Amino acid sequence: MDCTIQGCLGKYEGQYIVHTSRHNERIIVIDNVPAEVCDTCGDTLLSSIATRRIDEMLSNGSRPTGVVPLYDFMDQLSE
Ligand SMILES: [Zn+2]
Repeated sequence: MDCTIQGCLGKYEGQYIVHTSRHNERIIVIDNVPAEVCDTCGDTLLSSIATRRIDEMLSNGSRPTGVVPLYDFMDQLSE
């Protein structure tokens, strides 16, 4: 599928990505999410199925697989 970003001539290709979002003020990271990623500009589309499963995962209290280091760019600047 052709990229939907105006002026970009790239094409989307299926990849597994790291998806990050905020949920109830907490940062959530989900690995291995199937997505379409533009090979030129990097624009990323999640399928509606992936989006729905992520919503389900977050709302039904699924246990996380692990924890990740979290850095705040602003904290790094002030040091
Ligand atoms: Zn693109």
